[in-house]
Amino acid sequence: MIFNIDKETMPREKIREIQLSRLQDLCRRVYANVPFYRRSFDEKGIKPADVQSLDDLKFLPFTLKQDMRNNYPYGLFAVPMEMIQRIHASSGTTGKATVVGYTKRDIEMWAECAARSLAAAGATANDIVQVSYGYGLFTGGLGAHYGAERLGATVIPMSGGSTKRQVQLMRDFGATVLCCTPSYALHLYDAGLEIGINIKDLPLRLGVFGAEPWTEEMRREIEDKLGITATNIYGLSEIMGPGVSQSCAKEQYGMHIWEDHFLPEIIDPATGEVLPEGSTGELVITTLTKQGIPLVRYRTRDITSLNYTPCSCGRTHVRMNRITGRSDDMLIIRGVNVFPSQIESVLVGQPGIGPHYEIVVTREHFTDHLQVKVELVDASLLEKYSELEKVRDRIRAQLRTVLQLDVEVTLVSPNTLKRFEGKAKRVTDLR
Ligand code: ADP
Ligand code: ZN
Repeated sequence: MIFNIDKETMPREKIREIQLSRLQDLCRRVYANVPFYRRSFDEKGIKPADVQSLDDLKFLPFTLKQDMRNNYPYGLFAVPMEMIQRIHASSGTTGKATVVGYTKRDIEMWAECAARSLAAAGATANDIVQVSYGYGLFTGGLGAHYGAERLGATVIPMSGGSTKRQVQLMRDFGATVLCCTPSYALHLYDAGLEIGINIKDLPLRLGVFGAEPWTEEMRREIEDKLGITATNIYGLSEIMGPGVSQSCAKEQYGMHIWEDHFLPEIIDPATGEVLPEGSTGELVITTLTKQGIPLVRYRTRDITSLNYTPCSCGRTHVRMNRITGRSDDMLIIRGVNVFPSQIESVLVGQPGIGPHYEIVVTREHFTDHLQVKVELVDASLLEKYSELEKVRDRIRAQLRTVLQLDVEVTLVSPNTLKRFEGKAKRVTDLR
């Protein structure tokens, strides 16, 4: 079901027309109301009236996460404080949290985009949606909550934590849709088995997972284990929260970005140059309608590419491909660039080992050392040395092929690696 058929199926020319008039309005608003933008426009010698076409976007200044931190907490707000209805903050995965404010209209727009996303995933007003993203300053919980309400579904506002109880309630309340991080979905599955509940046997049919990087291999693993369709939702608090983009049920590859509100570009993270259509690079988003904290060319640091080819679901909005990593997630090991997602794609789905893993980087005698810890599914293997060696060698060889690096593979007992209720923290860099 398409939630907002008029908006989601507009022809490209119409989308571009709306984007241009909204971009012009945005530039006028930030120039008049946000000293940071007045300065950064002036530094580039640009006035809002200079923006005559969407191609002019590339002349506008970027906004960095650091700019948000420098203006902490409210320096980038574009409306008086009495218009701000809600405050959220990023989860601070990569440093000091950034603060965002929403007006009443921003919250409505967010609910609309989150509802479009849930509908694109395949949810309907008849679903019972368990929201297991954390509620609070983190945007995940309330974002999914408002979206599910706007869709007309029944909402179970679980938040994260009390993992075993979550599975009991999922069963008792007959949840059909689950919203949480992909790593938490697996944690819920394991916790269920411990108390004799197999999520696969429950009415749950759909997952709307995001807030952290995950691979296609992981998606399939979750689908197999939980017996559901697993879809991908993307968002970030700086831009709005969950529901900036969402994969549609028909095409698992790519997430529609709600382009009447968010204008995407892909740039070369090193030079800031806009890259040609289809290239992989850093996603940059301009918020077209947000009032509280509108952002011009926000550098997300997320690595992806855009796909403008028509989608069989009928939606015309551009699709972004699965995020392969954050530019600041990239590890440089003995000079070789490594994304955790490359490691995940090798590990997940391997026979004998579970989907949980941990990456530890150390430096000894000026040499980087990469260790990958993976859980065995069957603890008895720990006693069979030769079989253990076989599993370890196989994984090590595949990692070497993909990464061009020697990796230490450590197989640990089942259920010993740390589980996460929100975003998984998989990398420990001790250098
Ligand atoms: P942060 O994690 O930066 O403190 P947020 O809580 O706002 O702040 O999280 C936003 C970030 O989460 C995104 O920039 C992106 O890196 C990651 N993220 C969100 N959804 C997805 C997704 N579906 N796939 C991969 N990464 C995602
Ligand atoms: Zn689609």
